[in-house]
Amino acid sequence: MSNVNKSISFYNLIPSLDKLMREDILVMCAEKFGHQSIKLIAQEILGDFRGKISASDLETISMLESENAISDIAKEICARATHALKSPITPVFNLTGTVIHTNLGRAALASSAVIAMTQAAEQTTNLEYDLETGKRGDRDTVIEGLLCDLTGAEAATIVNNNAAAVLLTLNSLAREKKVVISRGELVEIGGAFRIPEVMTTAGCSLFEVGTTNRTHLDDYASALESDEIALLMKVHSSNYEIKGFTSSVSERELASLARQKNVPLATDLGSGSLVNLSRYGLPSEPTVKDIIADGANIVTFSGDKLLGGPQVGIIVGSKKLIGQIKSNPLKRALRVDKTILAALLGTLRLYQDPGSLNLRLPILRNLTRGADDIFAIAREIVPKFETLLSGIATVTIEDCMSQIGSGALPLDVMPSSSLVMTPIADKGQSDATLQKLAKSFRCLPKPIIGRISDGRLFFDLRCLWDKDELLAQLDFFK
Ligand SMILES: *Cc1c(COP(=O)(O)O)cnc(C)c1O
Repeated sequence: MSNVNKSISFYNLIPSLDKLMREDILVMCAEKFGHQSIKLIAQEILGDFRGKISASDLETISMLESENAISDIAKEICARATHALKSPITPVFNLTGTVIHTNLGRAALASSAVIAMTQAAEQTTNLEYDLETGKRGDRDTVIEGLLCDLTGAEAATIVNNNAAAVLLTLNSLAREKKVVISRGELVEIGGAFRIPEVMTTAGCSLFEVGTTNRTHLDDYASALESDEIALLMKVHSSNYEIKGFTSSVSERELASLARQKNVPLATDLGSGSLVNLSRYGLPSEPTVKDIIADGANIVTFSGDKLLGGPQVGIIVGSKKLIGQIKSNPLKRALRVDKTILAALLGTLRLYQDPGSLNLRLPILRNLTRGADDIFAIAREIVPKFETLLSGIATVTIEDCMSQIGSGALPLDVMPSSSLVMTPIADKGQSDATLQKLAKSFRCLPKPIIGRISDGRLFFDLRCLWDKDELLAQLDFFK
């Protein structure tokens, strides 16, 4: 055979575009990113092959001759498409072992919330329009009744997040005045959110009482002798806990003192729960209803921590104080949009039936998942990981403890199972291998995020429900 004929036959090794586009993986990719975009990337790759054949590139030719050529090319197209077309905000597998992970977007929403949110997004709505009177309405109205039912409060309002709720409360009720707070509660919650700084930003001055470990009712009582006190504040700093010789004043005692002195009490509950979690076998923490019943005049909490909804800050309390808060011009700057309100409403409605809440609210489904179920998943997926990482890392299943996260019950943990990957490498190389391994998982089309500890990579499987979806990702591992 002449050279010319040979090279013509090499060109024949290049699969046709139509045949490629029928590969399962590209059908899937086309559904996700659009047929036309995938076709363009495929054409580009096929063009590259022609160039390489004309340059007699032996590697390309032998790849094209191999048995898996078509599926390898399809995978390459899919990988390039994923890289080029993927949104910078992408779903990830949260296998960190922290269920409510702020860096991973906290709560995954319930489907009822997503449906409500999508409907509100696609259409115009009666957000601030009273259908009865045909006049301007208030965007909080649709949610307020439900929140009052669930918390026992008289009134409620919604802002962008709980940091905003605290800022707005302080600014509305105590601007240019003093706020009494225990030194044990002057905490940093994360990022730049430190209670003393929020107070200053809100235009209030701090009146610190007690000490880091102990604050007594008398401390508050003597502070309230001063007449510039506008507010008593209590912060449930649940992302850390002081153990040992400690003492703090309960909501009930504080509320009764506040009433006597005619100063309102505001409680920042952080990860506010609307149901007693002990009914689902989780450690109990005071609910918003408990705190209101204890006499707090205002309670602030997050919508996307234990509550399991969208990112919002919820403020509930007395009609008078909520009225003051709502009339603050800052409220306008901190308000939430129609889609978020719809998602919150869709989430709160699930709380009307606490019996099925643990099945319908993803956060609670994750938190209440049994250790046996998680172990069973680990057993099913471990062989594929062993094959994938053979020669790179050993893979074992280990018992571990997941945590709730986002400041909720930091010391309480739930038994779970992890895949644990230990690099097979010389001493000096093992950290580099570990980092590379973690990065390869992070760079998958749907990234897998684990946790590195003691020179090993942990995948806590508590939040993994679709194991096939995870295993399908391993095809892209590089
Ligand atoms: C998390 C938290 C906040 C801040 O809430 P975001 O929803 O993150 O804005 C404020 N206070 C406490 C006690 C918290 O735990």
